[in-house]
Order: sequence, then C-alpha cells, then structure tokens
Amino acid sequence: MTAPVSILHEDNTGTHARIRNDFPALHQRVNGKRLVYLDSAATAFKPRCVIEAVRDVWERDCANIHRGVHTLSQRATQRYEDARVKIGRFIGTDDRRELVFVRGATEAINLVAHSYALPRLGLGDEIVITGLEHHANIVPWQVVRDRTGATLKVVPVSISGEVALSAVEQQLSSKTKIVALAHVSNALGTILRVKEIVNRAHALGAVVLVDGAQAVPHLPVNVMDLGCDFYVFSGHKLYGPDGTGVLFARRELLESMVPYQTGGDMILSVTFEKTLYNELPARFEAGTPNISGAVGLAAAIDFISDVGLEWIFRHEQLLLKFAQEKLSKIEGLRFIGTASDKVGVISFVLEGVHAHDIGTILDAEGIAIRTGHHCAQPVVERMGVAATARASLGMYNDESDIVALAEGIQRVKQMLG
Ligand code: PLP
Repeated sequence: MTAPVSILHEDNTGTHARIRNDFPALHQRVNGKRLVYLDSAATAFKPRCVIEAVRDVWERDCANIHRGVHTLSQRATQRYEDARVKIGRFIGTDDRRELVFVRGATEAINLVAHSYALPRLGLGDEIVITGLEHHANIVPWQVVRDRTGATLKVVPVSISGEVALSAVEQQLSSKTKIVALAHVSNALGTILRVKEIVNRAHALGAVVLVDGAQAVPHLPVNVMDLGCDFYVFSGHKLYGPDGTGVLFARRELLESMVPYQTGGDMILSVTFEKTLYNELPARFEAGTPNISGAVGLAAAIDFISDVGLEWIFRHEQLLLKFAQEKLSKIEGLRFIGTASDKVGVISFVLEGVHAHDIGTILDAEGIAIRTGHHCAQPVVERMGVAATARASLGMYNDESDIVALAEGIQRVKQMLG
C-alpha cells in the first residue's frame, strides 16, 4: 500500500512515508477498508525493529538473566542491562540504579504507593492528585488513604480540562507528603505544568510522582529538568512491547524504600532466619523480568530517537490543529478537553449519539478509536458527559486518517443523527 503524502510540513513527506512503512500493523484492511488507527493512547503499534529485537532475544539469547554463568545467560543479561541504561538516558538519568523495570505505569505507581507511601504516611498527612488522573493514579492512593488515615485531596480541573497552578497551590500545604499527577491527560490530552508544580510541592517538603504514560510518546522528557522524585511510564504506549514499563526514582528515595515484591533475584542471601536484600535496582525486581520486552523497549527508543521527538511533537501538533479545524465543521460535534497546551488526543461527543455507537460504526469503516470513560471516569464526569469518543494520534498518522475520521463521523450522523 502506498503511504499517503503529507502536506503538513516541508520535511514531512519522506520522513513520514518511511515511518509508516516501518509499522507492519498499519498495512492491513479491517472490515474490508484501509485501517485507520486512531487509538495510540490506548496502545501504540510497534515498528519492525521492535518486533525483530524481541524475536532476536528469543531466537538467539533466550536465557534467564543475572544468575547464569553460561554464554546465553550472559548475553541476555548484557542486553537487559544495556536496555536499562538506554531507557534511563532517554528520560534524563545516567544512573542505572534509578531505573526499575516494571510491568507498566500501573505497577510502577502501585510500587511507589506500597513501598514509599504506606510505611511513611499517617493521620494528618495529605496526598494530592488532580481531577484528571487515570484510575491507575487514583486507586493506589485511595488504598494508601484507607490504610494510613491520610487524606486524599483532588485539585479541580477547569471545564476546558486544565489544571491551574493557583488551584494546585490551594490544595498544597505543609501537610502534603505526596503529589501524584499526570504529565499528560489520557482522556483529554492536556499537558500539565509539571515543573512548576514540582517546585511548589518541593518548597513544602512533598515528593512528586509524575505519571508520564501519555507524555513520553509525544514530548521530550527529562526527569532532571522536571525535578520530580518519581516518573513512571508504560512501554506499550511508547511503540514498545506490552508488559514493560519503567519506574524512575531518585536514588536516595529508592534506597530508603522497602521492596514491594519479594523472591528471587532481589536478594543477596537467604537463610530461614534472615534475608539480605540486593543492591539497587535489583531489590525492586523480584522474579524473572520481561527480558525480551526490555530489549524491545530499548529498540523502540532507538527508533524514536532516530525519528526525533521534536519531529514527532511538531508533526502531531500540526495534525491536531488540522483535526480540530476539520472536525469543528461537523454540526453537533463538541470537543471535550480544549486546553491550549495539549497532545494529539481528540475527545468529542456527538449530539444525540452514544459514544459507543460512534465507535461501532467507525469500526465498520475500518477506523479504530476508543469510546467510554477511558479509565478516567472522574474527569469525564467532570466534563458533564458519561462517555466520549477519543481519537488519539501517533507518529504514523497523517491527514488522510483525519479526513477518513471526519467522513466516518458524517456517516454516523447520517445513520443515527
Ligand atoms: N496513566 C495514564 C495517563 C494512562 O493513560 C494509562 C493507560 O492508559 C495508565 C496510567 C496505565 O497504563 P498501563 O495500563 O500500561 O499500566
């Protein structure tokens, strides 16, 4: 299939065609139509180099890591640890001890809630989150609240889907021990002013966890520059394998934390009386990890670095503007989440039509979007709706996808409007 030509920016045509060719899953027909994939916020397609890296581990270096003296085990260990260094550098740390491999953003947040927050917080302490969090950054803090007696405070979100600094300040106090917030909202696309929030939280002695699941695929992220204490993301949204993810934690904090899970590989020695825990980061990686996944994620990062996050950001921003212009002409369509600073997440409702019906009819046209509350029920309710339709962009999308979406929505209107 020939790649659609882009008119969005001058250097786009060649780069973009090359990118599309690298994603095999794009080049298929669904329900007899060209697949238009607009659900990258749920999971991103994988470039060929990621698929090959995972396969290569299984074909050549299929061995368990850290424990084996044989060659394959040593090669697998090397690849896994090289991946750690690469992923750490991608988000701005050179210290491999600060990078813990996990199953995804959800597990990383649970790790911090259990290993950092549960032993430290008590009655009178406060945890601050924002009103636009994914359930993964709400429920673990409710567990901490319920077990420790701490209070959970929520920074309100404006009707445009923004989190004002003044609103954050109102919730912060000397009682705040943890601030946990999304870098980018998955339901609305809003980019939060993380650096300023970190500064304010630190001034009051609180630590800050940033949920970067929706940020790392779209913006350059540097944890040192942000100044945050914890940063989490999932590999599968970053064009990498599912079941992979990362917790960045400042070393001093990790050193002071108790392991979240225990077992093999996280120990130095075990007797029935006593166990000595391993060094960082192994102390937080109990059991056999997703070895091929880590290597695949490193390959995804190589791919992204080759394309360049600046290019990706610019491309997706131009496409977002194009989509906003195109869709705003559709009568009865209302955007949900209109922050001035946002990534390519386009949530909308259509007058008189249920979001799920939009998704079903579009699917028949080969167009994949997400509908519902997007695991962020509170913010969708805050926007005054029960569900939205959400089209989300990846580096491989182009104008033809947006044109197809607009035509698909017109078809929904003809059928149901
Ligand atoms: N945080 C945000 C902002 C998300 O969008 C998601 C997934 O959609 C998560 C956390 C959870 O990610 P995972 O299911 O990969 O653990």
